[in-house]
Amino acid sequence: MMEALQSWDAKGRWDTIHLAGVRDLADPTIFDKIITGEIPAAIVKEDDKILAFKDINPVAPAHVLVIPKDRDGLTRLRKATSEHIEILGRLMLAAGEIAKDESLGFGDGARIVVNDGKEAGQEVFHLHVHVLGGREFNWPPG
Ligand code: 5GP
Repeated sequence: MMEALQSWDAKGRWDTIHLAGVRDLADPTIFDKIITGEIPAAIVKEDDKILAFKDINPVAPAHVLVIPKDRDGLTRLRKATSEHIEILGRLMLAAGEIAKDESLGFGDGARIVVNDGKEAGQEVFHLHVHVLGGREFNWPPG
């Protein structure tokens, strides 16, 4: 037993437990208030890990944001590590499902975007996937 505990100690596993849940020290964003329900949003999809809601300032007839409920350090995409693979997959899966939901105004095509950083137009530093549809989009993007 002691050996096992010492091995955990040596590998720094206690640190992981100690820091669990507090490793995201970045400033909270407006999305935290949407997650808690403090600020209302038109929620279109939700499960234990992700929340999807209509963008308050849509730039297309259909415009939904998909976010992780637990930001877990993902202020922006480039903060992702291999520990985030599952949540990143869930965000993309949800985006794909939303993109084919005609009741939300999506047609046969969608523009799915992550703005990574100010230079790319990111304003809210809680990772989010934009799912845009209901019109045609240009390429290259502006
Ligand atoms: P970003 O520019 O960071 O990629 O996208 C942030 C998005 O969040 C913007 O499209 C903006 O309209 C949306 N947004 C900002 N505040 C709110 C809000 O309080 N409610 C909703 N539903 N969307 C918001």
